Amino acid sequence: MTIPYLVLVPNFDLSTRNTLALKAQSRWGVLLDDADQVPALFELAKDRRLPLRVLGGGSNVVLSSDFDGITAIMATRGRRVISEDEDHVVLEAAAGDTWHDFVVWTVEQGFGGIENLAGIPGTVGAAPVQNIGAYGVEVADVFESLLAFDTLENSLRTFTARDCAFAYRDSVFKHEPGRYVVMSLRLRLPRPWQPNLRFAGLSELSELPEIAPSTVMDRVLYLRGSKLPDWRVTPNAGSFFQNPIVTLEEAAPVLAAFPTAPNFPQADGRTKLSAGWLIEQSGLKGFRMGRAGISERHALVVINLGEADAGDIASLAEHVKATVKARFGIVLHEEPVFL
Ligand SMILES: Cc1cc2nc3c(=O)[nH]c(=O)nc-3n(C[C@H](O)[C@H](O)[C@H](O)COP(=O)(O)OP(=O)(O)OC[C@H]3O[C@@H](n4cnc5c(N)ncnc54)[C@H](O)[C@@H]3O)c2cc1C
Repeated sequence: MTIPYLVLVPNFDLSTRNTLALKAQSRWGVLLDDADQVPALFELAKDRRLPLRVLGGGSNVVLSSDFDGITAIMATRGRRVISEDEDHVVLEAAAGDTWHDFVVWTVEQGFGGIENLAGIPGTVGAAPVQNIGAYGVEVADVFESLLAFDTLENSLRTFTARDCAFAYRDSVFKHEPGRYVVMSLRLRLPRPWQPNLRFAGLSELSELPEIAPSTVMDRVLYLRGSKLPDWRVTPNAGSFFQNPIVTLEEAAPVLAAFPTAPNFPQADGRTKLSAGWLIEQSGLKGFRMGRAGISERHALVVINLGEADAGDIASLAEHVKATVKARFGIVLHEEPVFL
């Protein structure tokens, strides 16, 4: 067996590796472009007693300025068709593959099912971690299985959907942070393709005489571009707060004061409120605090106004949470992971 080659870069700059563009550095950094490097790296980190964390595209993290350990960037690539029949096609992609490129590839192959998830930044490996979702579709809806390295057991493990315990922007991987490294993901896309056009902005596509996955993808990309600030121009981490799922009792004061407030009844009897709406109604859209602020285009998006660090982002997030709590009695939770 050949020993995987690992190049550890000292004082590894992460400022261009997170979409919030926070100034951040890791004592060591390494790009993992071969799946065999993963167990070898964990062995090395254990030997050297260094903390180790894994990053994909850095689009759902708030990075601390200095990390005294190893930051591993998943950079494995590759996608393939595993099997196909009349009812399904099963596809696999490597964890380091760019999620959006994978979506485009599926659409180009004529496979529909994840076109609503086009344009989400980041990697394939991180997609199941927070069960990414947009325009009425979640990764959990088309999930087949994933392969992960279990750093505790030092072995590879295949996860079914049940093992992953998917929920709204949640999975087992969020509850045992750092334990598993997702190596590859398999999706099962149903045939024939049925477009999911339930979400506002997509429904008018149903009036077209003909529609293909690419039609939906193009529309989704247009809608995303018209609503969200581009992180390359205005650094951000997408939706900064999860939509709170609350009991009807908790929602009552909001709905009594604002009967038309957006709310989405859930199967368990609770209801999902819109975090963006709550923030906007609290007068915080466009609010600025030091080197961080809330986007003027979208109240759910925290932006780096330039030179911000994790502390600036955390202070702003606390202010938003306290303001919304005082105004509506609703507790918001951050979506990105503070690392
Ligand atoms: C402009 C913008 C728009 C966005 N829109 C959406 C949206 O519509 N819907 C949505 O759900 N999200 C959205 N996001 C959030 C983000 O893109 C997703 O959460 C994405 O899946 C994160 O991928 P990443 O590779 O950048 O993960 P990172 O930010 O690098 O990591 C996120 C977490 O996952 C862990 N992780 C990363 N890779 C692995 C791996 N291989 N194995 C185990 N753990 C891993 C990290 O340790 C970290 O805890 C948006 C973000 C931005 C900036």
